[in-house]
Amino acid sequence: MLARLRERPPALWYRGEPVADVTTHAAFRGGVATLAELYDLQWTHAEECLFDSPTTGRKVARSYQLPRTALELAALSRAMAVVARHTHGMMGRVPDYLNRALSAYAAAAPFLSAGDARFGANAARLHEELREADLSLTHSLIPPQANRSVGPSGQADPFLAARIKKETDAGFVVRGCRMLATLPISDAIMVLPSTLLKATPEDAPYAFGFVIPNDTPGLKLICRESVDYGRSHFDHPFGSRYEEMDAVVVFDDVHVPWENVLLYRDVERCNQANTRTGAVVGMAHQVVIKNVAKSEFVLGLAALLVDTIGAGGFQHVQEKIAELWIGLETMRAFLRAAEADAAPDEWGVMRPAWSPLDAARNLYPRLYPRMIEIVQQLGASGLVAMPTEQDLKGPLADDVRRYYQAARADAFERVPLFKLAWDVAISAFAGRQVLYERFFFGDPVRMAGSLVAAHDAEIRGYAERVRELVRDLRDEAFASQESSTP
Ligand SMILES: Cc1cc2nc3c(=O)[nH]c(=O)nc-3n(C[C@H](O)[C@H](O)[C@H](O)COP(=O)(O)OP(=O)(O)OC[C@H]3O[C@@H](n4cnc5c(N)ncnc54)[C@H](O)[C@@H]3O)c2cc1C
Repeated sequence: MLARLRERPPALWYRGEPVADVTTHAAFRGGVATLAELYDLQWTHAEECLFDSPTTGRKVARSYQLPRTALELAALSRAMAVVARHTHGMMGRVPDYLNRALSAYAAAAPFLSAGDARFGANAARLHEELREADLSLTHSLIPPQANRSVGPSGQADPFLAARIKKETDAGFVVRGCRMLATLPISDAIMVLPSTLLKATPEDAPYAFGFVIPNDTPGLKLICRESVDYGRSHFDHPFGSRYEEMDAVVVFDDVHVPWENVLLYRDVERCNQANTRTGAVVGMAHQVVIKNVAKSEFVLGLAALLVDTIGAGGFQHVQEKIAELWIGLETMRAFLRAAEADAAPDEWGVMRPAWSPLDAARNLYPRLYPRMIEIVQQLGASGLVAMPTEQDLKGPLADDVRRYYQAARADAFERVPLFKLAWDVAISAFAGRQVLYERFFFGDPVRMAGSLVAAHDAEIRGYAERVRELVRDLRDEAFASQESSTP
């Protein structure tokens, strides 16, 4: 994987300059090293993480599998849990996330082929190619944040949002921009319709789906400033490992060959694609597994932190620890329910039940910021009263040993614990994590709207039951009035 990124570097730009080698650049090398670690992890956990390729028989990543049975779905879930736990859920965009999306598109080849006979075959071929080479993906769904009161076709500049510029015999040319793509330190980009923003007929030139390599000519991935710039693992325990990076995607007349296209100018099909293929369910399944790993970590961190400083006995502290535990159990229950109620979808894939996943993806954007608030409330000034690695190793070592000790840990154990809490609760890495959990799956306001729409029949069923009760009460009251009238 490292050699691949060196040979075919993604078109990253950082602080105004192209990035020649992501594996050594201080802004990226930590995240890249963790990705490499995850690829190795598959082989040390081969039983859980790999399966036999249906075409070559070679061992390939299980997150590319199309599970046909409950047992295969359970195996997939265990594989994704191994990866999520390895990063404590702090690398939201491990390759598993988009492997699930691409797998869903491949399974739903007939749906894509109904738009154009080539597109279903493209999805199946791309899925096989990426699976066999174990490539990783980034993706981008939404237009840039210029004027949100109108869609892509209503912007002042028609080429602000990525748009079809012209069609050729070999494919089409895209010009414009998409935001945002997490994990641009990857091999290819999947450009898909939004899961939430529905396109209108005027948006046809903006309606497409395709997969292209991240070194395609004309592509630019403009990165934000790194949350960690070559700091030590000791000082930035998470930022130095799990910087997955986010980039704005610019298409400077990018040529997309027909072989790479999944959807084209078909507004209706684009609006349905993520739901009909099951991509949104596959991604949400991975997300809830990540949420469980992340919640376990935050709970463990908070519990150790209060124990270390002798605060674990206070009632309000216990109430906060209980709140973290309840959040974790809620995510576990959603995951279990989604898997227990899984059923084969129209493409023959064992699909986890949507309702528990939908509830989870709507709840976690509120749970996670509260979890981090709790770590801040419990850690208090301890989160900033922190020496650096150099202080521990330099002439201040004796001061550190004396003044940074805690009730149940010496200074050299307390400091790394509080460094972890700092990187989870208040550092730049921590702030980006909170923003990520609030938004990465879509605007929570519009996600709630789509939840109400998706579960409308069920919600109206409950409303009907209440209406019947209301009518019974009314009828009973008037019946008793009539019977008491002389
Ligand atoms: C850290 C991070 C990583 C991400 N990674 C990816 C990625 O890899 N790929 C990807 O495709 N996307 C990614 N996203 C983008 C994510 O999909 C968007 O953040 C999300 O869809 C919301 O869109 P927006 O950020 O443009 O906010 P906007 O839509 O601009 O919203 C801004 C504010 O305006 C309000 N608002 C705007 N329009 C409306 C409306 N019509 N009705 C009601 N309220 C409205 C919103 O509620 C919000 O408060 C990422 C986001 C973050 C923060």
